[in-house]
Amino acid sequence: MSATSKRALITGITGQDGGHLAALLHGKGYEVFGIIRGQHNPRRLITQQEFPYVTLIDADLTDSSSLVRAMQVAKPDEVYNLAAISHVGYSFKNPQLTADVTAKGVLNMLEAIRLTDKGGNVRFYQASTSEMYGGLEYNRPEKGYDEQSTFHPRSPYGVAKMYGHWITQNYRESYDMYNVSGILFNHEGERRGVEFVTRKISNAVARIKLGKQDHIELGDLWPKRDWGYAGDYVEGMWRMLQQDKPDNYVLATGETHSIEEFLTLAFAEIGITDWKPYVKQNPAFMRPAEVDLLLGNPEKAERELGWERKVDFPGLVKLMVTHDLTVEETKI
Ligand code: GDP
Repeated sequence: MSATSKRALITGITGQDGGHLAALLHGKGYEVFGIIRGQHNPRRLITQQEFPYVTLIDADLTDSSSLVRAMQVAKPDEVYNLAAISHVGYSFKNPQLTADVTAKGVLNMLEAIRLTDKGGNVRFYQASTSEMYGGLEYNRPEKGYDEQSTFHPRSPYGVAKMYGHWITQNYRESYDMYNVSGILFNHEGERRGVEFVTRKISNAVARIKLGKQDHIELGDLWPKRDWGYAGDYVEGMWRMLQQDKPDNYVLATGETHSIEEFLTLAFAEIGITDWKPYVKQNPAFMRPAEVDLLLGNPEKAERELGWERKVDFPGLVKLMVTHDLTVEETKI
């Protein structure tokens, strides 16, 4: 007998957070449904093998009718909207697609819920992001960005996520829906895609140690991020949907570190203290507008949700490099 008979629908099931969340909810006894798009999505088979308990539903955030169908099939108590064009660099190259999926896709999902949830009982989680703050110097609160901080997105991705954040709140206020916006600072781990800088580094460091690669090419090394572990953050997502009233919450570690610091710890894991000879700068990985520094203030989530991150920065780097020394990823 499972502990709960709840049903959850996850968009973005093939992504980093989708995997962590599916495992968490399954462990709690949920029946888990995941939306997957594209006829030949190579991640379909991997997802089926890794999460055999997830029922996959063919749907696409840009196709409203498919989302209505997904709602009818899953009949969820909770919907987690994690699907997005989520890479900042990619969003500069594909800004319209980013708007269609990352912005309008949220509206499509909310409408699908509204049209199918006659009892008004579905709880909705929107994956919002620290990229909405922009990290500009004039805009930084001393203790880190919180739920009241001013937004100033610096990429088509950040701008699209702003729409998702506000439409989630607007539908909460307009239709009395249980909608939560979780503003999550960067969260990484062994499931992170290699297009993100942390996994790109941990993967390259492991490959250098294994003699499969002799250097890594990166963009700017000075930006700072508030990096946590994704496994901790999906726990926070779930907690947000278990409250009496829907609200917005920041999840962050309250620490910020530069890419140089990440490099230092990652190379130290393989016994290299001077990493400079192994790192080349490549302007292709620089962004038209950069977010200088992100630091989040998770006090509200800690206080109201009883949430706390368990993995610290050195622990995160170690976890990722250790994983990549045993699991081969492609070079990027
Ligand atoms: P983001 O914070 O959502 O943009 O997450 P990323 O992991 O993609 O990027 C974090 C920071 O690393 C940004 O400031 C990037 O400009 C910087 N960066 C430097 N070199 C690279 C690189 O080669 N790839 C990526 N993805 N980011 C890089």
